[in-house]
Amino acid sequence: MTKSSLTAISPKAPPEDTHSCWSCGSMRAAHFCASCGKVQPPVPVDYFTFFGLPPKLNVDIPALEKEFYELSRKLHPDLNARAGGMEQQWSLEQSSLLNDAYRTLRDPIKRTEYLLHLEGIVLEEQSKSATEQARATGEIKKQIVPPDLLEEVFELNMQLEELKMNQKMGEDDASLTAEIAKHKLALEAKHDRLLEELQSYWKEWDAIVDRNLPAGSPDGKQTTSKMVDVLNRRNYIRNLVRDVNAALES
Ligand SMILES: [Zn+2]
Repeated sequence: MTKSSLTAISPKAPPEDTHSCWSCGSMRAAHFCASCGKVQPPVPVDYFTFFGLPPKLNVDIPALEKEFYELSRKLHPDLNARAGGMEQQWSLEQSSLLNDAYRTLRDPIKRTEYLLHLEGIVLEEQSKSATEQARATGEIKKQIVPPDLLEEVFELNMQLEELKMNQKMGEDDASLTAEIAKHKLALEAKHDRLLEELQSYWKEWDAIVDRNLPAGSPDGKQTTSKMVDVLNRRNYIRNLVRDVNAALES
């Protein structure tokens, strides 16, 4: 999670009135007034709220895209340049918020990570603290190698060691390279399947939102921890594939 993605919920100076239009007093949306069309100062909202969406993970992407282009036009700083002053400044800020929100919500992984972040679950921190805890207790770091990959990772590491030795000696073993490439393909296929698994939990999460249950409820916890697990496994495989690519290229 990058710092810029947090700007939506931690603005520098939140305005006092975040519910009505500064110009005509109507009830306002997060970005511009539906009644008079004036651009509004940015308010501390999350990306879902910015687009007027509930915090659900199944998102109608074509509808989101359409809304994005519509808002892009309306919030374009050039268009609001003649309004001058604050409105122009707000257009700039709102446009950059719009871009961050769109980029985050249209991507299935970023969207899930962002939702977990909103619910106070930070993936990197979690795995870091899990690693530290494992180190402190001398326990095997179970999170580090996902159990379903143990055998494959063990074998792959042996082959990568062998490859490194060969490279040092200036030898070329085509069958070894082919073996490693085969493992890599299998890992990439697993990586893709994990997205499907993640998407199966979106439905669970969306049902939790529909039932008005908090993320901290037993059902909420169960679903978010399954999503965290998938994302951790996916990150693990991504890093592994990157290492394999580096080894094959060197
Ligand atoms: Zn207005």
